[in-house]
Amino acid sequence: MGLCLATFGQSHVPDLSQAARRADALLARMTLEEKIGQLVLLTSFGAATGPPHEQAALEANIRNGNCGSVFNALTVAEIRKLQKLAVDQTRLHVPLLFGYDVVHGYKTIFPIPLGEAASWDLRAIEHSARVAAVEASAAGLNWTFAPMVDIARDPRWGRICEGAGEDPFLGSAVARSQVRGFQGKDLTAPDTVLACVKHFAAYGAAMSGRDYNTVDVSERTLREVYLPPYAAAVQAGASSVMTAFNEYDGTPATANGFLLKRILRDELGFKGIVVTDYAAISELVAHGSAVDESEAAQQALAAGVDLDMEDGVYLHNLKQLLRDHRVTRKQIDAAAKRMLELKLTLGLLDDPYRHCDEQREARLVGAREHLEAAYRMACESFVLLKNDSQNLPLKAGARIAVIGPLADSQRDLLGSWKGDGGWVSVETVLDGIKRNDATDEVVFARGCEVASTNRASFAEAVAAARKADVVVAVMGESWDMSGENASRTSINLPGVQTDLLRELRKTGKPLVLVLLNGRPLDLEAESTLADAILEAWFPGMEGGKAVADVLFGKHNPCGKLPVTFPRRLGQVPIFYSVKNTGRPVNPARPDEPYKSTYLDCPNDPLYPFGFGLGYTTFACAGPHLEQSALGPGGKITASAAVSNTGTRDGVAVVQLYIRDLVGSVTRPVLELKGFQRVELKAGESRLVSFDISENDLAFLRKDMTWGTEPGAFRAFIGLDSRELRSATFQLSKK
Ligand code: BGC
Repeated sequence: MGLCLATFGQSHVPDLSQAARRADALLARMTLEEKIGQLVLLTSFGAATGPPHEQAALEANIRNGNCGSVFNALTVAEIRKLQKLAVDQTRLHVPLLFGYDVVHGYKTIFPIPLGEAASWDLRAIEHSARVAAVEASAAGLNWTFAPMVDIARDPRWGRICEGAGEDPFLGSAVARSQVRGFQGKDLTAPDTVLACVKHFAAYGAAMSGRDYNTVDVSERTLREVYLPPYAAAVQAGASSVMTAFNEYDGTPATANGFLLKRILRDELGFKGIVVTDYAAISELVAHGSAVDESEAAQQALAAGVDLDMEDGVYLHNLKQLLRDHRVTRKQIDAAAKRMLELKLTLGLLDDPYRHCDEQREARLVGAREHLEAAYRMACESFVLLKNDSQNLPLKAGARIAVIGPLADSQRDLLGSWKGDGGWVSVETVLDGIKRNDATDEVVFARGCEVASTNRASFAEAVAAARKADVVVAVMGESWDMSGENASRTSINLPGVQTDLLRELRKTGKPLVLVLLNGRPLDLEAESTLADAILEAWFPGMEGGKAVADVLFGKHNPCGKLPVTFPRRLGQVPIFYSVKNTGRPVNPARPDEPYKSTYLDCPNDPLYPFGFGLGYTTFACAGPHLEQSALGPGGKITASAAVSNTGTRDGVAVVQLYIRDLVGSVTRPVLELKGFQRVELKAGESRLVSFDISENDLAFLRKDMTWGTEPGAFRAFIGLDSRELRSATFQLSKK
């Protein structure tokens, strides 16, 4: 049963054995109230994502030992003040943990995670998390509520922007890199923070893409699609896991022993702490799982929840529950011990102020080299979706009309979860274009707002376009249209932006569309209106500069979609790794009736997973298989010659997919199993090789065991999930 853990590389798993011994000794000295206090996480006065339940009493709760961890407290000064209360005024001087949602940067804000995933650059993603950890820990924090590793296949769901997209293989690779980046090599180092993998589990499968909605996926899908990134993060040493708001198989995740005990602890071997999402224990009542908060606390503790975020349900109920024999001392001790172990692992019991160094804070938070890393990451995250007439790169010296509600916006560049990042000195796309254009003939007209229906400013925008050589329209969603509680039933450009684009098209001027957004959009209209489209996501603090520099060709865009862009919302959920069905379309006879198709739309997406253009072109030959069969424990090498056929240096992302042709359960038509970013000079060719091992062919068989079955497979290599070439091989019994 379960997941094939052998596929995931082991990394810096903290050594808990010494911590465990010290935790036992400390626990033995604690009163029941002190133990329960360790299971309580309360919000400070920073922005919270729900009603603060215990905020007013925060300091009193810390002093009384009723609170063992705090979130949303920022800056060394604030954190030192709260830590001092715990250390000086509680009987056993146990320090607090300080958590925060450092999702894509603390002060220096990088592209949203979906944008980072579009880089397919694991080193850069790890570095981004490292920078975030360096800044957060310098600001006094020791715990981030990241990475969010929820696979998401429904663009209506606003939180799709916080993860790595639709694919378990890419998602797992990204999750590993993020955990390594946050936690570094040594959790006692002053520049690391605990990672928190969230939201366990299958939060991304919210029905209809509506946030917090019910999830109903089979155990097979849970294990094959949703679990791998959590497993990868756990294997990479993640110290904490956050429960999800949704239910799984009729039981809310926060009360779900199957998820939290059987899968997380028993199968994945997770040793760290389980924290709830915001007030998720009290929500068990609204779910209809518990009759009141007391029963909710009982259920959560029994399911394996260690730490209660914000609602104070453990604080107010565990003592009585113990008296009533509805929870056991053993359960409370186990959870409290894990909390203490974590604090010991961080070295907090030896030095509670190890993250409270004002000089480090001044030196490292927002450091110049961090901005440079954010700039590089932004450049790598952009996906060029269209450039038919080579209107990009822009020519310096062109008269440019910059149009659109997002062209001169600072705040929107940062996206949601902006940490402690500010935006007043952020360069906008318009600023960046002006800096790049030699002529001083950049004209700006907003044209419309993001979501309003007012067309009064269309005329000014069209007039500006008429006078220009080229039009750059910067459109999309405002920052708060994706993220938590930001689901949409339309994935079109909001408001009248597409209408404005239509008017601009009529001017006959070359039309470049730059998109800022946090989810796949329906670009059916825009893809015919615009000559070029650059998907820039919410690119972070250096995003305006990076967009402009990429538009002018200082960098060759190289991002690839980590998620499918549909033609229309009606195709959703749409993803590349589908099943064939019994009635697949025959590409040679697409109009044959009674096939699995739509009447009004092709099956395939507008822009497929893995797709992205650049200012050069690549060709991919092959694949060539060095062997035609492999046996147990064996491997096959698949290679393909990749050539840069254009005139500029560039980066190709070579992708390996596998299809298991026949199995005891049906298999997807494609599964990503490897990728390599290859830098190639203009005219250069390189042979790219992938080793395919038996492990890569394993799946959850009919009997729910993980393993392989002999038979025929196809290996596909190409530069996106649509344009692939393949070769067949066999997996033999021996
Ligand atoms: C979100 C989590 C977040 C938590 C703390 C919740 O509303 O779902 O992702 O970590 O708030 O801010």
